[in-house]
Amino acid sequence: MQTKLLEKLCCPFDKGDLNAHIFRESESGEILEGLLTCPACNRYYPIIYSIPIMSPDEYRERQLELPILERWGLKVDARSNSFVLEAENKQKLPGSGV
Ligand SMILES: [Zn+2]
Repeated sequence: MQTKLLEKLCCPFDKGDLNAHIFRESESGEILEGLLTCPACNRYYPIIYSIPIMSPDEYRERQLELPILERWGLKVDARSNSFVLEAENKQKLPGSGV
């Protein structure tokens, strides 16, 4: 996704503005991998293969996201059903790219 699209995205849960943490970017400034976080509800939305995963919780496949989050160095509880980012993970995120 293009960085400028970030301004148009909001949290599907509360419509809050999202913070972007970029892990991998293309030379043209496209975000290939990253994490969007909502400061209001603390949910996270990964950007994988340049596509932001922004479905409501009940339509997300946690098992598919886990290996990617782990590759980014984030620790997630495989048994939990929440998409809320824990405090210890927040500290590992690269700074906001917006
Ligand atoms: Zn939210």
